[in-house]
Amino acid sequence: MLVEDSPTQALRTQLVLEDAGWNVTICGDGNKAVSMASETAPDLILLDMRLPGIDGSEVARRLKDVPGLSDIPIIFLTGVFREVEDIIGGLDQGADDYLVKPVADGELVARVRACLRVRRLQHELGRMAGLLLSINQVGSRISGILELEKLLDAACKLLLSELGYPSVSVFLREDDQDEFLLVAAAGRNVEGVLASAPRFVINDDSLMASSIRSRRILFTNGPSLGKVSSGWEGIHSGAIVPLHVGTETRGALLIASPEEMAFDERDELALETIADQFGAAIHNARLYRQMEELATLDSMTGLLNRRAILSRLDAEWSRCRRSGRSLALMSVDIDRFKLINDNYGHAIGDDSIVAVAAVIRRITRRDDFAGRLGGDEFLIVMPETDRQGGLEAAERLRVAVEQLEITSQSLDVPLSITLSLGVASIPEIPADDPAKLLQASDQALYRAKAFGRNRASI
Ligand code: GH3
Ligand code: MG
Repeated sequence: MLVEDSPTQALRTQLVLEDAGWNVTICGDGNKAVSMASETAPDLILLDMRLPGIDGSEVARRLKDVPGLSDIPIIFLTGVFREVEDIIGGLDQGADDYLVKPVADGELVARVRACLRVRRLQHELGRMAGLLLSINQVGSRISGILELEKLLDAACKLLLSELGYPSVSVFLREDDQDEFLLVAAAGRNVEGVLASAPRFVINDDSLMASSIRSRRILFTNGPSLGKVSSGWEGIHSGAIVPLHVGTETRGALLIASPEEMAFDERDELALETIADQFGAAIHNARLYRQMEELATLDSMTGLLNRRAILSRLDAEWSRCRRSGRSLALMSVDIDRFKLINDNYGHAIGDDSIVAVAAVIRRITRRDDFAGRLGGDEFLIVMPETDRQGGLEAAERLRVAVEQLEITSQSLDVPLSITLSLGVASIPEIPADDPAKLLQASDQALYRAKAFGRNRASI
């Protein structure tokens, strides 16, 4: 915007600037300069010092008072006869530069270009500073969250609210698995994305997998992201950020946008910082979980204790709900255990509990979780196991314990024990509450007791 009262001067300057590639709006009256600047939002204002009625430095002062206009750069145009004080005063009013008239065309263009370049850099710095502040916010807020699920959820939401990303999702892999599962998401169509339970495998040809393999951030444009999952239709660009947890790449962050080219290399620093913070927070949450696990073993059997197996049930239940896979739960109880205590003493009772625990450990799969609820009761959580599989495991356990012989110096003949077992599974039991699944396997156990014990029931 050129504020100049002489029409011929204004026209001349306009031609020079338009020749250099800029659009020029002319304002011939200092009083109107502020309102015109509000309307046209110029990138730069060339402001004549001498204007009728109100002079250039007063226009500059007014412009600096208006929040949206105060950071538009101003170059003063001043006559040779003006005193040095005027120029100093102008710069004090917030002008970025000045030119003494008559101005050579080349100098005018060069000064305008330099001024715009500085402003662009300032904007970029401002944007970066804002971004880093936001990232810092996200980092300090997630570093205190030690429960992994809560951490992931909070982190996704913070990336949305603090950094303005339209859609954020996190994929993680469990220990020793090749498969990456969606574990948290926020933003656009989050329900759809979570419901479709997308996954990918480390060596498949997905963008996610190749980002993880190369350990590099990938930017993508066009519809290729839609192939990740049905929840991502309408996504036109994205950034895939591998997550390093400790020394390993254990997951990826997918940030997606419905706009084309929403991300580019300028986002890389921010995304790398976020990934570092994320990775560190996930690492802490994992360590915390490991420590918790140490404090969660049943001292008599080495199986999980009551609290731990029930919280495992909750966690596996949530995971199964997300992944849509099956889950089986087995309730186990020693038959007539009170009689063993009464007839052979508490120590033999304890030995029996330990012996049953050892069989449970032997016959369960690596992915299963077994715990002692208390007394002679056990619970086994079997991820990705259907009703049939759960029942087969129960029968295997029943037979193995039936064949067991408890021997002791205090026993004349080896003692035999039997189990009753109850199995419940998702999807047969609707996945709307983990307590319902537990109730169902307990009821199945009671049926096994009622039908004569030493049997498995569903
Ligand atoms: P049922 O076939 O109906 O299960 O009969 P049961 O006798 O096994 O009945 P229940 O399961 O209710 O009996 C549990 C008994 O386990 C009662 C309690 O005295 C005993 N018990 C609980 N904790 C321990 C323990 O740590 N060691 C020993 N030896 N006994 C325990
Ligand atoms: Mg019992």
